[in-house]
Amino acid sequence: MSYVTEVIANLKQKYSTQPEVIQTDAAVLGPLAPVIEKNEELYRSNAILERLTEPDREISFRVTWTDDNGTVHVNKGYRVQFNNAIGPYKGGLRFHPSVYIGIMKFLGFEQIFKNSLTGLPIGGAKGGSDFDPRGKSDREIMRFCQAFMTELYRHIGPDMDVPAGDLGVGGREIGYLYGQYKRIKGSFENGVLTGKGIPYGGSLIRPEATGFGATYYAAEMLKHFGESVEGKTFAVSGFGNVAWGAVKKITELGGKVLTISGPDGYIYDKDGVSTPEKIAYMLEMRASGRDKVQDYADKFGAQFFPGQKPWGVKADVVMPCATQNEVGVDEAKQIIANGVPYYVEVSNMPTTNEALALLRANCKSVAPSKAVNAGGVAVSALEMSQNSMRYSWTAEEVDAKLKQIMKNIHDNSAAAAEEVGLGYDLVAGANIAGFKKVADAMLAQGII
Ligand code: GLU
Repeated sequence: MSYVTEVIANLKQKYSTQPEVIQTDAAVLGPLAPVIEKNEELYRSNAILERLTEPDREISFRVTWTDDNGTVHVNKGYRVQFNNAIGPYKGGLRFHPSVYIGIMKFLGFEQIFKNSLTGLPIGGAKGGSDFDPRGKSDREIMRFCQAFMTELYRHIGPDMDVPAGDLGVGGREIGYLYGQYKRIKGSFENGVLTGKGIPYGGSLIRPEATGFGATYYAAEMLKHFGESVEGKTFAVSGFGNVAWGAVKKITELGGKVLTISGPDGYIYDKDGVSTPEKIAYMLEMRASGRDKVQDYADKFGAQFFPGQKPWGVKADVVMPCATQNEVGVDEAKQIIANGVPYYVEVSNMPTTNEALALLRANCKSVAPSKAVNAGGVAVSALEMSQNSMRYSWTAEEVDAKLKQIMKNIHDNSAAAAEEVGLGYDLVAGANIAGFKKVADAMLAQGII
């Protein structure tokens, strides 16, 4: 049995209660086969895949907080520090009721390769809580963040582990988390978190970075086929920060976004989510805490499809921007039946492995989230650089760096797949390029 097949089989046994972990292990390790086979003895004798798939540490803790009525609540908090071979642990915090150790591990594992792909010195981690921010008051959010940081602070630091936001954790939460960290430590180490507000060390363009970066990446992919964003139609899911950035940049580049979605369904706007007013309304909907995309349809007279996802819509480019596993086999079949040429994953692991195989076999091109959404963490790393320089770049400077990073990720992924004879395969290429740097660093640093 080949080394890759053997490791995947063992992981299936080991993590039978954590399906997301099995899913992502197979999705990452499978495409590495052509590279591992070339040097199988070296990788096997150093147990590179076993070490890579077992996190350095899985921290879990109790978070106790009091709501506005004085009732005490207990949640679980996590930080999975996966791999720091190429830099300090780095990755977001997710506050969502679906959070459990399996979700933290799949996200942390993906983060290793994503962060490596950015070309910047950051390792992989993820954290969060099963706390549900929906319907909570601002003061409840603050108290929760303070309680969460009171446990987390001992595990993080500017050269050790640098958390950021993810679903349910935006600028407001990062502010409260940082305030508590600073208070406990008694020193202004703002390099400990990214996604901060501008007045205390945040980077310009960080809120836009994931969506902008995804669009820059999509533009590179289209360019490969002699095409561009201009005049193309896009089906986007989600209406949070990532979808907002993507809609903004797609519109700027002359594309038309037909759909956005929420937990309540999706909206179809035949004129496009394209005016500054419509795009700004996405932020308003998010800030309202209602978590309903129907509000957009009510305000702008677009069509609303309750309880549905936008994957039955005909578009040139499909971009899932909401959450994991939003496209399964049935949805993939719809996308294929509509003749959608370009499938660009944006949210982390939006596609089940079976659906992804179908899409790769039938679409003109498929781009993987770990490459496409890497602009967010890339600008986080630029935020770390600015914090350690005690200096800030302009929005134009950060945006230009982001654009170049996304082009490099695309080009390096394409080259990595080409090198092992796979042709233009962005999915395999991203995993291979991300893996190589981390594996080389692990080999250089010995058996630890
Ligand atoms: N949560 C984002 C991601 O998945 C950002 C992480 C970061 O900026 O550290 O990449």
